[in-house]
Amino acid sequence: MIYYVNDEAQKNGDHEVHTATCFYLPKSKTYLGDFASCKPAVQIAKKKYPQSNGCFYCSKDCHTT
Ligand SMILES: [Zn+2]
Repeated sequence: MIYYVNDEAQKNGDHEVHTATCFYLPKSKTYLGDFASCKPAVQIAKKKYPQSNGCFYCSKDCHTT
């Protein structure tokens, strides 16, 4: 699965990590890589945006509130 991180933060400061096929994939995004699960994708995203979080819809296993 290809993962991206949103370059724009949510209102709470989170940068959401999405799969390439997610309905909520933003226009302004950074390519993270091809991973078997969202967990390594979020780890990579956190190097760029320390407050990264999995998308509730496509990466629910990595979504924290
Ligand atoms: Zn998503």
